[in-house]
Amino acid sequence: MSEGRVNQHQGNEALQPAHSTTSSRTFGKGVTLCPVCASTEHTSIRSVFDDRYGCPDMFSLVSCNVCGHLMTSPALVEEELGGLYSTYYPRKHVNTADLVASAFEVAGPWARLQRWWGGTNNQGQYTVSPGQVMLDVGCGSGLSLLEAQALGAQAYGIEADPNVRRIADELKLRVHIGSLHDRPFPDVSFDLIVLNQVIEHIPDPGKALEALKERLKPMGRLVLVFPNRSSLWQRLSGPKWINWHVPYHLHHFDAKGFRAFAQRHGYRVIRQKTITPNIWTILQLRALRQSPMPGVPSAMWEVKLATGVAPSVQTSPHASSPGRLIRKLVRQTAFSGLALFNRLVDMVGQGDSILVEFQIERSQ
Ligand SMILES: [Zn+2]
Repeated sequence: MSEGRVNQHQGNEALQPAHSTTSSRTFGKGVTLCPVCASTEHTSIRSVFDDRYGCPDMFSLVSCNVCGHLMTSPALVEEELGGLYSTYYPRKHVNTADLVASAFEVAGPWARLQRWWGGTNNQGQYTVSPGQVMLDVGCGSGLSLLEAQALGAQAYGIEADPNVRRIADELKLRVHIGSLHDRPFPDVSFDLIVLNQVIEHIPDPGKALEALKERLKPMGRLVLVFPNRSSLWQRLSGPKWINWHVPYHLHHFDAKGFRAFAQRHGYRVIRQKTITPNIWTILQLRALRQSPMPGVPSAMWEVKLATGVAPSVQTSPHASSPGRLIRKLVRQTAFSGLALFNRLVDMVGQGDSILVEFQIERSQ
């Protein structure tokens, strides 16, 4: 559909994307169609852009007029994703020895508690049981597969990024480079399928849910983790919420909306919770102080990707003088306070990411 059909209740020219015609943009040539209710009628909430990596196209955050689902508009089509990600989305430099060492820690005696305290348990592979067969769709570097193996499972992965081939071969991981719709590993059914922060990137998430149904064992579980657009941190941060992450995030779900969406595709919820990684909150607090510009990559996100850890939580190896020790103590106290706050926010279901476990509705 053309932008001209968008129902602009706001009626404010300033809210319109500066480059909203399909001819002047590089990315976003798809039809904005609600995946939840199939409506093409939506209302623009505000103009949005890539505030991390500098993709210059302008987009709109729009709300479906029928069901209220939030989307990035205009939509991206599958064929555009390769170009968008290879041009703007930075690749992490992966050291396979580090991956193996990191995965080894997953089964340690305090690992579960550490993940809970840090909010890093927002990953589906941590719900796997020994002996199960797991598929991670969008497995990235393959760390989740190594972790699942360390927890006693058999692990398979699907990843679009061809650079992952080398890592997978080196680590002897079963990874299909391509799409879920290629139907890889045709003879395998899965006890657990996980999508960690992936469903919001997929142009047609309904089609993905249908394809996943065919790959689960009858009592298998589908675990999806995605940003919670109704979180407390979103309400506190507004347009600067780091998980709008436009245009990479095409869909902006909340728990209730996603539940209804999954039920329409024949799934039932068996467990649901919110989890807020502390590192996200540190990055969020920094992002609130930034003034991003369209087309300009943010230095803040480059630093994060280069080190993997936000500088504010790094510890200096030479922290020996009284001044440094006091600063370190203050930082650690602040970090503990933030962790405690996030755990309380998660307890009341207002956290920044949602983890939902589904099974196929048995009447299907
Ligand atoms: Zn809708």
